[in-house]
Amino acid sequence: MSEATWREVAPGVHVRRHEELKLNCGLVVGEERSLVIDTRSFHAQGDELLDAVRQLTDTELVVVNTHAHYDHCFGNAAFRDSQIYAHSGAADGLRRTGEHQRQQVVDHLRATDREQLAEQVRETEIVLPFYLVEEDTVLDLGGRTVELQYAGRGHTDHDLAVAVPDAAVVFTGDLVEEGADPAMEDAFPLEWAPTLRSLLGRDSSGASDTWVPGHGQVVDRSFVEAQAEQLASMAERFSEVLGTGLAGVDSLANAGRGLGLTEDTLRLAAVRALELRH
Ligand SMILES: [Zn+2]
Repeated sequence: MSEATWREVAPGVHVRRHEELKLNCGLVVGEERSLVIDTRSFHAQGDELLDAVRQLTDTELVVVNTHAHYDHCFGNAAFRDSQIYAHSGAADGLRRTGEHQRQQVVDHLRATDREQLAEQVRETEIVLPFYLVEEDTVLDLGGRTVELQYAGRGHTDHDLAVAVPDAAVVFTGDLVEEGADPAMEDAFPLEWAPTLRSLLGRDSSGASDTWVPGHGQVVDRSFVEAQAEQLASMAERFSEVLGTGLAGVDSLANAGRGLGLTEDTLRLAAVRALELRH
């Protein structure tokens, strides 16, 4: 099993960083219930996460999937006795794309000689979240609350962030990415920056200086502000080109150069911007 370590970023607020994909899962421990944030990529990884959670708390567990990408929710099978929260769009997305995501992951693992992992993904039952929200929702964990926040479209059309107001921590899912560019495959490139700014402006997260991205290192508020700036600049440049009526992938990607985003990211963002124009 791949290596992973817990880090307590605030009292009772833990981040589990996994070597694989540099994925971060979260645990917020309350007096009566605890919240697990994201469940990893397949059933056995979910089981392993559950064991690790049980080292830290024996309270009842509640789960949230930040979004419907496999690495954040295919481990749900290990948490099926818990209430699993997500945005309703995540349940729709998983229903629509779950099997396709599975096939892509299996193909990739096989192509890179990881047949055993491929088999585990293949055998994993996709368990849909069934406590569905569409707006900011407070969960009482006993002695503390957490807030599930929907601030608009960004990395997907259904990203939830999780704020822990008493600890000034926000878990962002893949709305924030550290160590790699924001991932554009299912993104809304022109709407992502306003969504991040809306999160930054929330009462419950506004004062937070500990932001936990879906992947990579824990960051501070200024990092999130900088990523919002970068995405806003890209969107502004894309909009200018889209306004000329001469927009293509090349012209959009060209316009986005110099912002610190890779060519691949810009091209994916350009494809999405063009798809979404209609
Ligand atoms: Zn994602």
